[in-house]
Amino acid sequence: MARVWRGVVRTRAGLIRYNMRMEQTLILIKPDAIQKRLTGIILSRFEALGLEIAAAKVVRASEELLREHYANLKGTPFVDGVVKFMMGDYNNLPDHRIYAFVLRGENAVSRVRAALGATNPEKAEPWTLRGQFGCIKDGVMQNAVHASGTPQEAEREIALWFKPEEVLP
Ligand code: UDP
Ligand code: MG
Repeated sequence: MARVWRGVVRTRAGLIRYNMRMEQTLILIKPDAIQKRLTGIILSRFEALGLEIAAAKVVRASEELLREHYANLKGTPFVDGVVKFMMGDYNNLPDHRIYAFVLRGENAVSRVRAALGATNPEKAEPWTLRGQFGCIKDGVMQNAVHASGTPQEAEREIALWFKPEEVLP
């Protein structure tokens, strides 16, 4: 779902064009961040962007769900490690918990990704969430948070993790 408002505002300085996209994005708090009790800190960064929470739940993530979520990694040498990580095996979370959220706001997808930083926490800018809190262990990037990469990805991922009635209209 992406609603777009385009328009022009006349000011003394001239015309200002605007292009606002109301977007939704899927956030997953990953097991490393859950173990370190970083959920509140992470959510506060997104709230400070003015984004609203449209859905929230604790999920016991199955291997099947995680393989579907990371379908883009199929065939890579690290996919099994990533799935094991997301099932909590490296962070002492035997109940497979993941905290899932749908966040909504203007240009939410790109703004949340900017707050995350690069996928590789060792390359992420030090002030981003992944730069501050991520690490690499046994070849798996334990990078604290997942966020959808594009509005199309967000739509697919939200449908995977949430039933339609769980997301506020
Ligand atoms: N990942 C990894 N090693 C890699 C690439 C990815 O461990 O070389 C993990 C990492 O946890 C990453 C996830 O797989 O967040 C999904 O990869 P993607 O390329 O979609 O990165 P993201 O969209 O999360 O930045
Ligand atoms: Mg991705």
